[in-house]
Amino acid sequence: MKEKVLILGAGYAGSVVANKLAREFRKKIAKDELEITILDKSDTSINQGGFTFLPFGLYTPEDIIRKRKKLISPRVNTAFGDDGEVTSVNLNNKEVAVKSGKKYIYNYLVIAMGARADADAVPGLANELNTFYTSIEGAMQVGEKLRNLEKGDIVISVASMPIPCPGAPVKFAFLLDSYLRNIRKNREQFNLTLLWPMEPIGPPEFNKLVSGLLKEKNIEVKRSFPLGKVDASKKELSSKEGETINYDLLIAVPPHKPQKLLADSGLTDEKGWIPCNKTTLQYRGPAGNHDDVYILGDNGPADILKTGIGAHYQALVVSQNLINEIYGNKIKVPYEGETGCPIITEMETPVSAGEAYIATWNYGVMPAPFKPTKMGWYMYRMYYYLHWDMSVKGLF
Ligand SMILES: Cc1cc2nc3c(=O)[nH]c(=O)nc-3n(C[C@H](O)[C@H](O)[C@H](O)COP(=O)(O)OP(=O)(O)OC[C@H]3O[C@@H](n4cnc5c(N)ncnc54)[C@H](O)[C@@H]3O)c2cc1C
Repeated sequence: MKEKVLILGAGYAGSVVANKLAREFRKKIAKDELEITILDKSDTSINQGGFTFLPFGLYTPEDIIRKRKKLISPRVNTAFGDDGEVTSVNLNNKEVAVKSGKKYIYNYLVIAMGARADADAVPGLANELNTFYTSIEGAMQVGEKLRNLEKGDIVISVASMPIPCPGAPVKFAFLLDSYLRNIRKNREQFNLTLLWPMEPIGPPEFNKLVSGLLKEKNIEVKRSFPLGKVDASKKELSSKEGETINYDLLIAVPPHKPQKLLADSGLTDEKGWIPCNKTTLQYRGPAGNHDDVYILGDNGPADILKTGIGAHYQALVVSQNLINEIYGNKIKVPYEGETGCPIITEMETPVSAGEAYIATWNYGVMPAPFKPTKMGWYMYRMYYYLHWDMSVKGLF
């Protein structure tokens, strides 16, 4: 009987799984013994990591957007739009429904539907939402606002955790400092403040490095400052504990959650994310234990770091385990928490070199001391072009 692998979400993680399986199983697919199907509500893929750079003109929207049909192997069945927009997932019946009313059944299911911003979770935030975090348009508008601002207090607020790529707001703060200092040459006209919802900024060596640099660059940091509310009329925000701060420009990272349909389908836990075994990535949660269901990327458990790097590693592990399972060789590859957080501490300008580093770590093994370098800056810049033709296609 034909085996069916169904992948929900053709973002970073889902695309890697689809492309790796299509390559491995090309003969089975040709003989009609196996079918791989991937669903997404949109036919366009966006590399969200590029949002951080758009306000400073370091990439263009065209650099970070591709049609999915150019990214997914033609051996994979694809459904984008209403036939691909998932509306419910029933693990007991092994059935997924989509907006058009169609239903898909599976032998193996991969859930990789990412995270969504929920600005409404903070009173007043939706009325004052300047964010580079959620869309190309939003990131371009932040760039426009920065270009039109001559002086004042710029506050970058990370409302709560977890968010995709917790290092990105820090990277943004350093890029902004560098942009004002070295390009606009009016840094002294601005006060920059970073509001961080937790005490440490990442693992110890990461926290140590960025804390020192934030101080050196005169970026004020307020830690343990989860965003409580925003009053746009007074240009004032407060923490959940009631501490208030005024701003001229607020750039916020809203709270994030998984797609609502996943909670409505009874798949999420009390923290709101999809629980799974942190090593096998198989579903373990309120809908039961399901070895045939894999959870990867940003919609996964709250305590697995949400990064593209992590999603990529998870996709490699899940692809290999699906390959092992379908061949019946009983080998299981573990996910050991491999992830990373690329940090940029200064952009390249006529008067500054450009400095970056990609710190990586896994469960229980934190990054060693590191130093951002010019080579790191080049690697990071280059990555955005490799992303489409190497990473997403699952070539490494
Ligand atoms: C501003 C920003 C900067 C970042 N910078 C970095 C970085 O420098 N390095 C790094 O490693 N990571 C970075 N990340 C994180 C990285 O982008 C994510 O971790 C990664 O995209 C997660 O992959 P994913 O496949 O889980 O989700 P996604 O890539 O978001 O894919 C989810 C897919 O699910 C689809 N979907 C959603 N709902 C439905 C539905 N109902 N039906 C069907 N399909 C649906 C979406 O359309 C999407 O295609 C950044 C993220 C942001 C927001």
